[in-house]
Amino acid sequence: MKEESMATRRKVIQRMLEGAVFLGGGGLLWGNSIKTNSKSDYVLRPPGALKERSFLKACIKCGQCVEACPYDTLKLAQAGDGIANGTPYFEPRTIPCQLCPDMPCTAVCPSGALDLKNLSEEEKPADIMNSKMGLAVIHKESCLAYWGIRCEACYRACPLIGEAITLNYEINERTGKHAKLLPIVHSDVCTGCGVCEHACVVEKAAVFVLPLNKATGEVADHYIKSWDKSDEDRINENVKVADDDKDIESAIDYLNDDDLINE
Ligand code: SF4
Ligand code: SF4
Ligand code: SF4
Repeated sequence: MKEESMATRRKVIQRMLEGAVFLGGGGLLWGNSIKTNSKSDYVLRPPGALKERSFLKACIKCGQCVEACPYDTLKLAQAGDGIANGTPYFEPRTIPCQLCPDMPCTAVCPSGALDLKNLSEEEKPADIMNSKMGLAVIHKESCLAYWGIRCEACYRACPLIGEAITLNYEINERTGKHAKLLPIVHSDVCTGCGVCEHACVVEKAAVFVLPLNKATGEVADHYIKSWDKSDEDRINENVKVADDDKDIESAIDYLNDDDLINE
């Protein structure tokens, strides 16, 4: 009888331990999943990649783009990287994209997940300089140039020097006799290659590339640049699509209403 109750007790303890291991494992998995979600939100894809959701559907994880990259920029995500397993990505602080003019990674992709069409503008031939892998963002508080120290490392390294990054001259108010040369990134030109991030001299890069959806804001459709004719055309088009029966003139009058603007 005593032996029987000992056996039962042992089983209960064993089950409790199994439960604890399961919960522990679950905790780890859950922790990994949180990490996975946050890291994959910031993943940078090769040139010509479709938008992330479509890219994930299209990519067959063959690794041909990774093999084609002569700079070892691209890696295939592995279990534990926090990025969809087997998909290509790059980390500019380690190895940036060198913007190969012949676009070997994009050209070799068999699935259309990387598409040369995404690198061509106005039906011209594809050009690597049209890449939009992300957008470089400057953290002014840790950028030496914004402190007033001469740096320019990112500016000098940028393959689109003077276009994607320019230097803005500003008087150093603190010393009163020196100038600050402040790097400014131009979002319409920046390719997201990350050469600037790689070149940044501070410990944790003060300029870094973020995916476009993380680096950019979005203006609602009802704001219009009244000085830009094409923007007025855009709102006219949107109003028409939204409700063909509505009076466009009155919609624009409403949006330009002084009382509304001053609210
Ligand atoms: S453009 Fe060149 S360096 Fe950049 S990812 Fe493609 S193959 Fe690699
Ligand atoms: S070549 Fe295309 S399909 Fe293959 S891993 Fe690269 S992106 Fe995915
Ligand atoms: S990511 Fe940096 S180096 Fe590359 S184009 Fe943009 S500003 Fe220049």
